[in-house]
Parts: sequence; C-alpha cells; structure tokens
Amino acid sequence: MCPLLLDWRYKGTLVCRKALLYSMLLLYSHTINTMASKHKIIFTGLLVLISVQWTLCFSEEELHASYWNNKASQALHTALNVQPNVHQAKNIILFLGDGMGVTTVTAARILKGQMAGKSGEETSLVMDTFPHLALSKTYNVDQQMPDSAGTATAYLCGVKANYGTLGVTAAAPRSKCSATYGNEVTSVLHRAKKAGKSVGIVTTTRVQHASPGASYAHSADRDWYADSDLPPEAIRNRCRDIAYQLINNTEINVILGGGRQYMFPKTTQDPEYANITGSRNDGQDLVKEWRRNKMNAKYVWNKAELAAVNPAATDFLMGLFEPKDCRYELDRDKSMDPSLTEMMEKAIKILSKNPKGFFLFVEGGRIDQGHHAGKAKRALYEAVEFDRAIGRAAELTSELDTLTVVTADHSHVFSFGGKSARGNPVLGVSRTLADDKKHFTTALYGNGPGYVNGTRPDVNESVSSGNDYLQQATVPLDSETHGIEDVAIFAKGPMSHLIHGVQEQNYIAHVIAYSACLEPYENCTLPPPNHAGAIHPSLLLLLMSLLLLFLCSV
Ligand SMILES: [Zn+2]
Repeated sequence: MCPLLLDWRYKGTLVCRKALLYSMLLLYSHTINTMASKHKIIFTGLLVLISVQWTLCFSEEELHASYWNNKASQALHTALNVQPNVHQAKNIILFLGDGMGVTTVTAARILKGQMAGKSGEETSLVMDTFPHLALSKTYNVDQQMPDSAGTATAYLCGVKANYGTLGVTAAAPRSKCSATYGNEVTSVLHRAKKAGKSVGIVTTTRVQHASPGASYAHSADRDWYADSDLPPEAIRNRCRDIAYQLINNTEINVILGGGRQYMFPKTTQDPEYANITGSRNDGQDLVKEWRRNKMNAKYVWNKAELAAVNPAATDFLMGLFEPKDCRYELDRDKSMDPSLTEMMEKAIKILSKNPKGFFLFVEGGRIDQGHHAGKAKRALYEAVEFDRAIGRAAELTSELDTLTVVTADHSHVFSFGGKSARGNPVLGVSRTLADDKKHFTTALYGNGPGYVNGTRPDVNESVSSGNDYLQQATVPLDSETHGIEDVAIFAKGPMSHLIHGVQEQNYIAHVIAYSACLEPYENCTLPPPNHAGAIHPSLLLLLMSLLLLFLCSV
C-alpha cells in the first residue's frame, strides 16, 4: 500500500496525493459555477485522474483492522476445510519454471498485478492458490550450484545426478558416453506411457533442451542436441544424440516447443529463416521418421497450423516453432508463434482423450535464460505467461482426478529489495537514494553482465523498465549464474498433500509415481481416480442457473 499522504512520485518529487485530492475537491465545489466550460472540463478531468491514481495504488479498506482480520479468517476457514484427496491421480501435469526461484515468483506476482493496473503485492498468482507446498533442495550430486539437466533427472526420474547429465545416475560423469550404459534411469513420463497413459512435453525452449530432455533421453551430456554435437568418444561408443532419442525412445504423443534445426539434415533449409539449415550430419529427417507408422500424426511449425489441428482427429502432434528456442514472450511474433498457454491448451485437448489419463510436462523454459542474460524484465514476463498457462490448465482439467505440481529446477542470483513504497514498479527504482546519491533498481543481480566497471551510473524508471535493461550486478560474468537456495514446490489434486516439508528434489518424481500408481508403486492400494465430481465448474454454474430459472418460473 502506498504510505498515507506521501505516496505519489511525480518526476522524482513525492506528492501528497490525498491532501491534493481533498484541496482540489474543495476548490472545485467553490469555483465550479464561476468557471468557463473549457476550464471545467480540464479541472474535472484532473480530479478524475487523481482519484483513479489514488484508488489504483491505495486501498482504503487496508487501513482497517477488520479487513485483515476478515481476510485471514477466510484463509483460516479454507485451511480448516482442506481434505487430502487420497484417490489415484488419473492425470498429472508437471509445470516447471526453469530458474524460477522464490524471488522470481514474488516479483512475477507483483508484476502480474501491476500489468492489471493494481498495486501488485496483494495479487495472487495461480500457483499461489495451491493448497500444498514444500521446499526442494536442488543441488546436484557433484555440484552445489545445480544445472537444469542434473535437476531434471532428479524431479523426472527420481534419482539425483551429476551437473550436465540427463537420465543417468551419478555413476556417469558428464560427457563420458561409455558410462551411460547400465546407468540409465527412466522418467515418470516413460512410466506413465508404460501404464497406458498418453504423454506430452511442451516447452518454450528447444524440445531437446535439458529439462524436457530428461523425460525421454539418457545422455552423458545435455549439449548433444544433434549428431553433429557428439564428440569422437561418443560416436565411437555409439551414444545417440538427444533429438534422435526424442523420436526413438518413449513414444511421446505431443511434442511442442522449439528445436527444428536438430531434426533435419544440413541440406534442409529452415521454412522460416533463409539463412538457417538443419544441423544433422546423418542425413536423417527425424520428423519424417517420427511420423512413419503413426496413425493420426501431425507435424506443424507455425501458429496457424497449430490452431488448425483438430484434437479429436489427432493422436500424435509435433510442433516445432523455432530452429532453437522459442522467442521470449516479450518478442513473440503473435501471428507466427503460439504462446506457452496456446501450446499447452492443444496438448491437453489431445492427451485428455485417453480414458486412462495423461502425463504432461509444461516448461516455462526461458525464465532461466532471461536471468542468465541479466535482463529481469524478460525473465519476469516469461514467469507471468507461465502462470497464465497454469490457470488455463486448471480450467481444462479437474482437481479431483488431476495432480498438478508446479516447481522450479533451481534459482538464480536475482535479488528483489530496497526501500520501495507500496505499488513501486517491479522494474522501477527504490524511493531512496543509495549512499552514492544515485538511484538504484529494486531488482538486482549478484553477478552477471550488468556489472558496472568503474563508477555506477544513475538510473531512472524509464531506463530500467526497458526490455533489454541490464540490472546492475556485483560481479562481472558473461552469463548470470544459478542460485543455490531451495525452490518451492506447489501442488494440488490427488495425493498432493505428500508435497510437504523440506525435501530432496528427486522426491517429486516419487510423489508423481505414487499418486498415479506408476512404477515402482504400481501395486499401490489407492482407490481409483475420483470422477464423481469431475464436472467442469462452468457446467456446474450453468446447471445451477438452469435450476434457479426453473424454480423461479414455478
Ligand atoms: Zn540456466
């Protein structure tokens, strides 16, 4: 909340908005009759503007104890009514915000509120509304600061691994192909498929990237995207690239994201960019290979084609919308590229046809990349879009039979603080000056490309809210690093109460497997999925309205 009276900053000057509003009202009531009509319009307009500004940032009710007491007692009531759902999960959706540490979650929440014209802090992300939470310890077996490959192996395969390795135990050192054999671990996606469910991956990065990669690949190195990336030792020992494994390991029903280039030979030109070709040395067209022998399989590479896919007539869908990673949400070509939410929506519609249910992995993959670039705005807009997808998934599924887990693989050295007033823009500056008499942004990095060599420049909000503004960093690094602290796990749906306490990250895969009675818990005694109330909320509303209409008419 903006502090009482002193809360409106105009060109660096704090204006006593409430006092201004009252004095203008007073003046207005005394002079309105004597004013020229042109002045009347200007004066009224000004009054409206100030009133709107005031209510946007300042909620009068927050001044009263009753507001906070009521709000908290409602939350208490909700908490008292939380009943664990101990049925089997029919569907599982795992949302992974790559690099989405708790600081990022908070900043994204406030940004979401501010994008809707509110103060922001009081806003709820969709993930905030999940009833069960835990902290996840993210370290890799050989690294305190983890990476996305080792962590993906943990939360998808249930076993912690080394930095940079995918789908193998820590007995396999990074980049040693020969150590892959005998050390493979399988993902919950693979196990769900084995149990008869449909499975899918949706990401804003390339689909061969580390996070989705651990759901289907076993690779001693996360960077072996195409065969042209394999070193001599890997070729000698017949290790396969990740793109090859994407289509040859588990049969995945829906694959959506970037990563076109790794699927085609070097002789194939990209359909969208004249200067880009495929990157395969083996001459294979993996998309063609993937479609071979599949019924109702479609490949698309742009938004219009994706929109035209009829879920009822499609059992397999591959959509690759960029040669490498998808564009940042801030740069997305809305006529060519689907959003994460649009991709996920199509995936759920295709996968949910299976009466045995589905497993879907949805990644907001570029939160991480925005942070690495030292550009908080990019990371946070990705996080807001990620949360929007979580909201849409909630509309398309039922909490009664769908376990939804939201988590991050690791954090970043992103900090968010400084003496900021209520409603301070997330990408703005602190209201007080630093000891060098200059402004500073409340979003900062511990290290990264925003390092300032020499004297720190002053900064104002119009500069710091730019798409490519580099928040200042303490240590010079080309690429900002991951953080080491725990990340949150949010869960709702069947068996989601198992998400509690402080857990090792690989616990997540075990909760998922147990909730759906997948290997190694296939003999679990959980009662079958609860469909009794699996009625869509909007349908329920419609039925209630019809009932009301009926009652009123008799
Ligand atoms: Zn990263």
